[in-house]
Amino acid sequence: MIELKNVSFSYSVECKPALENVTLTIPRGEFASIVGPNGGGKSTLIKLILGLLKPQTGSIKLFGEAPEKTRYRVGYAPQQAKVDYRFPINVQDVVLAGRFGARTEKGTRTFFRFNRDNKARAIAALEKMGVADLRRKSFGDLSGGQRQRVLIARALCCEPELLILDEPTNNVDPSSAKKFYELLAELHKSVTILMASHDLSVVSQLVDSVVCVNRVVQSHPTEAFTGDLVRDLYHSDVRLVRHDHRCSESGHFHGEEDSFAAE
Ligand code: ADP
Ligand code: MG
Repeated sequence: MIELKNVSFSYSVECKPALENVTLTIPRGEFASIVGPNGGGKSTLIKLILGLLKPQTGSIKLFGEAPEKTRYRVGYAPQQAKVDYRFPINVQDVVLAGRFGARTEKGTRTFFRFNRDNKARAIAALEKMGVADLRRKSFGDLSGGQRQRVLIARALCCEPELLILDEPTNNVDPSSAKKFYELLAELHKSVTILMASHDLSVVSQLVDSVVCVNRVVQSHPTEAFTGDLVRDLYHSDVRLVRHDHRCSESGHFHGEEDSFAAE
């Protein structure tokens, strides 16, 4: 579903690369989590996969083709800090905006069909996320957890085969985050999910693979992160930082609890 080969990307010639020599494959049906420190390149990786940024070297395929051709098949919820909540827009219209992408990029729907379907699909997506009752409210008045559900509904509204979520639980309280993950587990039955997250607890409970991003990228099956190791990791920032530090080394950590504990 996603394939990167030897991808390097810099924002400018003066900057050192945000991502270097990334090779990564995400198969259909996977639930993959992207982890790594702030500034490590998680959002950059997501934007490259969507074709919103172009790599200087290497190749990126989404559904086997150039990302700009196929990204209409992806539902994308960007990192929330980038959204301007002062903009006066109600919840239903936020979700409907997800349909415009579907229409423009597919270019196959007639205008009439789009108009007739869009509201029903927006409401269905809101219902799926359990927030249909909020649809007439102003988006800016919602809590962090409610906003998050609305933004996922927006991403789901184009009936994606792949859902890409960039730090979806930022600004969401822990109990809302738990409910949110339960919803994601349900969604994963029908859609491939790629999610950047700082919450390593979700790694052990939900995801199939973990993509560590800190300029370089290493992918692991979740088994390498389960048990005491992961519980320790997500309860302790210090150990999380250690993990991230190791992600940046050429001898990347991969495996045994003992070798990790010895650090
Ligand atoms: P993450 O999502 O893991 O926090 P980012 O992908 O946002 O990391 O950032 C990776 C690196 O690229 C950081 O050093 C960041 O400062 C830099 N960066 C991100 N966006 C831009 C941009 N628009 N212009 C220049 N540098 C950027
Ligand atoms: Mg980011």
